[in-house]
Amino acid sequence: MLKILKNVALYAPEYQGIKDVLICDTRIAHIADCIETPTGLGEVEVFDYSGLKAMPGFIDGHVHMLGGGGEGGPATRTPELMLTTATRAGVTTVVGCLGTDGTTRHMESLIIKARALEEEGLTTFIYTGAYEIPTPTLTGCVRDDLILMDKVIGVGEIALSDHRSAQPTHTDLAKLAAETRVGGMLGGKPGIVHFHVGGGPEGINAIFWMLDHTEIPVTQFLPTHMGRNQALLDQGLALIKKGGHIDITAGSKVPGQIMYLLNKGATLDSITISSDGQGSLPKFNEKGQLIGLKVGQMKRVYEVWRTLIQKHQVDISEALKLVTANPAKNLKLSNTKGAIKPGADADIVIMDDQLNIQELFARGRHMLSHGEPIVKGTFE
Ligand code: ZN
Repeated sequence: MLKILKNVALYAPEYQGIKDVLICDTRIAHIADCIETPTGLGEVEVFDYSGLKAMPGFIDGHVHMLGGGGEGGPATRTPELMLTTATRAGVTTVVGCLGTDGTTRHMESLIIKARALEEEGLTTFIYTGAYEIPTPTLTGCVRDDLILMDKVIGVGEIALSDHRSAQPTHTDLAKLAAETRVGGMLGGKPGIVHFHVGGGPEGINAIFWMLDHTEIPVTQFLPTHMGRNQALLDQGLALIKKGGHIDITAGSKVPGQIMYLLNKGATLDSITISSDGQGSLPKFNEKGQLIGLKVGQMKRVYEVWRTLIQKHQVDISEALKLVTANPAKNLKLSNTKGAIKPGADADIVIMDDQLNIQELFARGRHMLSHGEPIVKGTFE
C-alpha cells in the first residue's frame, strides 16, 4: 500500500526541486528531500525516477466518454472511451458529457459509464444534460441532479450559437443558469453551466446578456470550443477581462491562440484546455451540410501542452495550470486534484526530458510503465 517515488523533479505544478514522494494507498502522504524506506509497515514499493519529472495527472473537463456524434446518421455515432485512451494521454480525471444526441445517449448510461471508468482507476464526474433545452436529466430536473447525484458537477454541454442547438432564448438560458447555481450551492458542487459554443455570429452574447440582466456571477459559466474562430477567441478574451474563464478544445491552432490571449493581457489562470475526446468533430459547409467527420482524441490536450513548452517557451509550471490546477479550481476539486501535495489524490504523471509520458499513477495505482499501460480496461 506504500509507494515511494524517489528523486523526481517535482512540478506541483510549481517547481519544488528534486524530491521524494510518499504515496499511502490512494493519497500523497508526504513530500521531502529524502524519504527513507520505513520498516514495520508492510511492503513498500520504491521507484527510482532520477532524471524524470513528476507532475499532477491531467484533468480533461470535456469528454464524450459514452461516445457521441451521429450527425451523419446512425453509422456515425462515435465509440465509447476505453481506459487506456485516457491514461496514455496522461489523464487521471475526466468529466463526461452528452452532446448533440440526447435521444439515443442517456444520462443513465453516462453516469454508469463514469462509474465504470472510476472502477477501472480514473476519477470521473459528469455534466447533466445535452445540447438541448429542456435538457435531459437523471431525476427530472437539473437542480435535483446537482443536489442528489454525487457525480454531477454542473449542466452541459448546452449548445449556443449553433445550427444544432435548440435555439434557446436568453431567458431560457438564464432560468437554467439560475437553477444550476442554486443546485450547485445546495449540493456543494461548482454548479457550472457548460456551453458548447458553435460557429454562429452571436458567439457567447447570451452569456454577456445574462451577466448584464441577472445576478448570476461570471464564474458560473464555462463556454468551450472558444478557439473555433478569431471572433469567438476575442469574445473569450472579453469574458476573461470580466473575471470569467474559458475552455478551448485542443487542436493544432491552440498553442498560437493561447499565446495570442496572453499577449492581449489574459492570464493563464482563466483558461483550460479539454479534448472533446470520443466526440464527433463534424465539418459542415456554409449550407450546413456534413462534409467530414473525425473522432476527438484525448491525447490532443497533452500535445498542445507540450507544444506550448517546446515551441513557445512557456514555463512547464505555467503550462501545467491549463490542464491541472485551473480545471481543478473550476470544478472545486483543488483540495484533492490538480496538485502534488500532501493529502491530495496520488494522481501523478512521470515524464522524461523530452516530456514523453513514461509512468502514470491514478489514485495511487500504477497504470502506465515505460509509456505502456500495465492496467487495462475490462474489454481492452
Ligand atoms: Zn461541443
